[in-house]
Order: sequence, then structure tokens, then C-alpha cells
Amino acid sequence: MITNNICTIREKIHKVAIRCGRAPESIKLIAVSKRFPTSAITEAATCGQTLFGENYIQEAAQKFEDLDDTIQFHFIGHLQSNKAKVAASIFHMIETVDNQKLARALNRHAESLHKKLKILVQVNIGKDPKKSGVMPEDAEPLIESIADLSNIKLCGLMTMPPWESTPEKSRLYFQKLRVLSEKLASKELFHDSSSVELSMGMSSDYAIAIEEGATLIRIGTAIFGQRKNLSK
Ligand SMILES: *Cc1c(COP(=O)(O)O)cnc(C)c1O
Repeated sequence: MITNNICTIREKIHKVAIRCGRAPESIKLIAVSKRFPTSAITEAATCGQTLFGENYIQEAAQKFEDLDDTIQFHFIGHLQSNKAKVAASIFHMIETVDNQKLARALNRHAESLHKKLKILVQVNIGKDPKKSGVMPEDAEPLIESIADLSNIKLCGLMTMPPWESTPEKSRLYFQKLRVLSEKLASKELFHDSSSVELSMGMSSDYAIAIEEGATLIRIGTAIFGQRKNLSK
């Protein structure tokens, strides 16, 4: 089932990319495996899926231990500075940096691990009080304030738009994130401003996100099925 779902999504990514004149390889699928066991990741890996998204540090740390290093994890949950040490050691990219303190903590731990840690800045593009992320107008000052940190590489932006009744309503938010990224790129504020990552789009709206420029799409339910509703 998992591998079938991944195949279906890959076909759709390909189709949407071609339709809107983008290279299908410019879109990376993150399989969001939170709340699913390591065996689900292993199953997804049998069809070549190597990139996974996790929201909870402890859960991810266990999976990281159980798997080999062909599997890469992106952190997509809310991260507290006191968990930055573990996060810096197990994740290939931290997508949810939204404050200077966290960026500094990640930089410090990356330095002691002798690595350059990739990060995205999470933007609360819809100014939704229920969502994390830096406000759009505060993104540039935040990025300038962390520009001196030499062990993190700012690769782009991530967002989680407000919940909408139809996927099409997310389009406006995806457009806003792209426009913001273009403005920041024109000021050379990213590690590589000619190739900026935009992490946006989930199970219900990833086709629209691709049309609006997503380079990373984060898909859970459409691959692994419904998650169990735990309190966390
Ligand atoms: C859980 C989660 C996803 C996946 O959502 P689905 O609707 O299951 O595809 C994507 N992004 C973030 C930040 C998440 O927490």
C-alpha cells in the first residue's frame, strides 16, 4: 500500500510539473512518517524513498538509531532550543527555524559536531495565531540577524498555511511565500540565492504548491494513511 501510494504521488508530481513547465526533478518528496513505526519507513524505502519528515525529537531519534544512513530526515515540527543538540545530530535539515535563539543553538551544536547544518526559516505566511513561524515582515530581520552563523546554511523557506476548506484557497499563501523568497533572494540572503528551497504543500494541496513553486512537498496521510490521534 505504502509503495503504491508513493508511486501514485510520484506520477502526479511528474504530471503537474510538466503541465506547469517545471523540471520534475526539481521537486523532492518528503514522506512524513510521524506517528508511524520504523517498519513503515523501511517499506517506503523499498521503492527508493530516502527522504522522511518527522515532528517529534524522541520518536525521530529512535528511528534514526534503527535505520542506516541512506535514510535522511527533515525536522518539520516545533523545535525548542533545549532539544537543538539532538536535532542537530540526527537531522539532515531543520525546516522550522523561526527565532534567533534557536538558530544560535543549532549553530553551536553543529559546530561541535563539525558539520554544516541545513535549515529553512518557517514563515507564518497567513499570520495564523495557531501556527508557528516568523511573521512575514519579520523574516528579513531574522535572516539578517543569523547571517553570521557559519555552521548553518540557510537554504530557503517553509510554511504551513492556515487550514482552508478547499486546497485551492491555499494557493494565495503559497504565492506569498514564493514572492517573499524571491525578494530575499534578490538581496542574496540565502546560502545559494540562485537555488532557494520552498517547502510547502501537504497531502491535500501539494499539486497547487508545485504550481506555485514548491521544491519540497511534505506528504503524510496520502502515503501512510490516517495517523492515530495522540495528544502530542
Ligand atoms: C504532519 C505534517 C505534514 C503532513 O501532513 P498530511 O496532511 O498528513 O500530508 C506536513 N507538514 C507538517 C509540518 C506536518 O506537521
